[in-house]
Amino acid sequence: MLNDHNKKSTHNIIIFSAIWIVAIGILMFSLYQNLGYAKVINYSGVVRGATQRLIKKELTNHPDDDMIVYLDDLLENLHTGQGSFNLIKIDDENYQNQIQSMMIKWEEIKTEIKNIRAGESPDRLFSLSENYFEDADRMVHTVEKYSNLQLKQLIIFFLFYLVLSIGAFIIWYRFKQDELNKVLYIDSLSGIPNLTAFELNVVAYLEKKQDKELVVLCFDIDDFKFLNTSYGYSLGDSLIKIIAKVVKKVAVQRDCCARSGADNFYLLAENCKDLYVHIGTQLIEAIQKECEFDIASDISFSFGGFKIQGDIEIREIIDRVHLAHKNAKSMKSDAIVWYDHTLTVQLLEDNMKIKQMHRDLKEEKFLLYLQPKFDVATQEIIGAEALVRWQFSKDVFLYPDSFIPLFELTGNIFELDFYMLEKTCAYIKTHHLEQNDFKVSINFSRVTLYRKNFREQLFIILDKYDVRPTSLEIEITENSINGLSDPIIYLLQDLRQQGFLISIDDFGTGYSSLSLLSSLPVDILKIDKAFLLDKHNEKNIQDILGLIISVAHSLNIKVICEGVETQEQASLLKALSCDYGQGYLISKPIDENDFESKYLARKGRAVR
Ligand code: C2E
Ligand code: MG
Ligand code: MG
Repeated sequence: MLNDHNKKSTHNIIIFSAIWIVAIGILMFSLYQNLGYAKVINYSGVVRGATQRLIKKELTNHPDDDMIVYLDDLLENLHTGQGSFNLIKIDDENYQNQIQSMMIKWEEIKTEIKNIRAGESPDRLFSLSENYFEDADRMVHTVEKYSNLQLKQLIIFFLFYLVLSIGAFIIWYRFKQDELNKVLYIDSLSGIPNLTAFELNVVAYLEKKQDKELVVLCFDIDDFKFLNTSYGYSLGDSLIKIIAKVVKKVAVQRDCCARSGADNFYLLAENCKDLYVHIGTQLIEAIQKECEFDIASDISFSFGGFKIQGDIEIREIIDRVHLAHKNAKSMKSDAIVWYDHTLTVQLLEDNMKIKQMHRDLKEEKFLLYLQPKFDVATQEIIGAEALVRWQFSKDVFLYPDSFIPLFELTGNIFELDFYMLEKTCAYIKTHHLEQNDFKVSINFSRVTLYRKNFREQLFIILDKYDVRPTSLEIEITENSINGLSDPIIYLLQDLRQQGFLISIDDFGTGYSSLSLLSSLPVDILKIDKAFLLDKHNEKNIQDILGLIISVAHSLNIKVICEGVETQEQASLLKALSCDYGQGYLISKPIDENDFESKYLARKGRAVR
């Protein structure tokens, strides 16, 4: 883009220089011409004076033939523009008539000179000379007039040229500038301004003192990526265009809206009660009307907002609305999140957590907790899930939900995931879990899976502790598998071939359909605890669980259910042929040492 801009500037300089070079050329040419006219005026005067002098000499018996030759040449040069005086030819008709008549009179003067030299009276020469003088005088004036006229015409032409060319240049420049502005400030897909233009337009709008209560909103489509991958990118594009149209309408001014990134929209609007509900309804209606797929009811938005009060920098406004939007996204709530001071405090706390995370990883303040998994039929412990806890300070003990989403958002989660992998491998080795066919599952975030050297780092850690893949199960949340790219699917296939078990965690919380399972390299389906914890819909839930379990079994996939808290739930799972269970009925996640003394101290496989 910058390169393009530089090219355009060079182009402009070339055109502007060319205009001036031509202008200077015209000026030089006119100067040259005027010098030529001045010379002709000068020599016309010489004709007048030299003829008088010659006649005077003839009359006083001082004949001067050289002067006659000189005047012959001069008149010829003035007439034709050719000769030793280097005079230009003047194409004015009046002038040409005058010089021709003077040349005729000059011939008469020369005849009269010959007569005088032969002794005739000088009277006729006198009158001829008077006449000739007046003609010569007239010719000088004619040349002067012609020269002035030419100069005037040139000046007019020059000014005309300058006005025209500079005018044309300005129009062209404006046109190019508009084109450049479009590239720099307009989002090409939606046709509405981009964030940079939005900032400029909002500043301009706010400068016109307003008495309205204004707000800046930022929103995006929930699970846009999922929609894109499920329905195709053309649906994504058409959603963006439909939304842009609505946003343009509801903004306080058509240019006070923007699209940035994939599906982030911004707008400046006049605040009113339930503004975001009103906008959301318009968006859904537009999608319902214009979208080729019947998906309006599946679409929701996350809104963040900032109420503008007092003088505030645009950057600050955008930062605040971003912060509010980020919170709206992480809360996954339907309501708008308005910026308030606590969000900044939250941001500072989050930043502090990230900083402390690095230190605490080194100091091993992240602890390995384990929760047993059991065989539903026998209630025998068959493995465990590794879960992290953070000893944040002497008195503060943090659970994953208070830091994992943050680490995922900032991309730091992979450091923790590899740390937990290392702790788990060390645990497996120390307690010889391999020999007991005891599998430990470990949670990997999507961010971790997408790390470039994920596979390499995974095997470095396994090799370091001499642990085989068959001792480990990799848990990936259902939300992570939506829209998995092909390379990641190949990676999972490869890991499975190496001996890892792959399981889909929290199944039932996302959008994936059971049919997706057949296309993924999966060994175990882990049904989210929400199913068993939902006490209102027990009958329905039982039916759904039964269905999920039978479909999974038909695909050769084992099923484990989370959140088993009561014996009744365990019995239900048994009746539904669920393979494994995990929950407080057997044990909460416990510290690695407690896990060892409770489940591993006895030889052989741990039993409840
Ligand atoms: P998850 O992998 O689905 O883990 C199961 C969660 O359910 C655990 O919460 C566990 O304590 C809880 N749970 C187990 N049994 C019961 C029960 O009977 N009733 C109820 N109400 N809850 C039960 P926890 O340990 O707080 O972990 C929360 C989530 O944090 C995990 O969900 C997992 O997604 C994530 N997580 C934990 N450790 C790690 C980690 O090392 N890396 C990554 N990426 N994520 C982790
Ligand atoms: Mg898990
Ligand atoms: Mg889970």
